[in-house]
Amino acid sequence: MSNQTFYLDAEVSLRVVNCPTCFVIYAVPEALLQRKNSEGGSWYCPNGHNLSYKKSQLAELEEKLKKEKETSEFWRKRNNNLENKNLELQQQISAKKGVITKMKNRDKV
Ligand SMILES: [Zn+2]
Repeated sequence: MSNQTFYLDAEVSLRVVNCPTCFVIYAVPEALLQRKNSEGGSWYCPNGHNLSYKKSQLAELEEKLKKEKETSEFWRKRNNNLENKNLELQQQISAKKGVITKMKNRDKV
């Protein structure tokens, strides 16, 4: 076995946490902990205990807002389509009324 030494120069922000089940202490990347706190999800402690994180209220509200915006956009487009169709039908009715009026006037002569 060779005796080699490797050096790693990196800046990592870790947070020390403990498992609520077995109390083992370990470190977690800060960014991962923040993501789990906002988006929810789960991971395992070094001893295999499943740790669950609920989605934050902000993340839930953002998801709900996104869905509401999509629904609103769907109905706005549908409303525009119906308004365009209504305008088209009004123009057809107006044109038919014009034809009927011409025919009535022609018959009077
Ligand atoms: Zn544990």
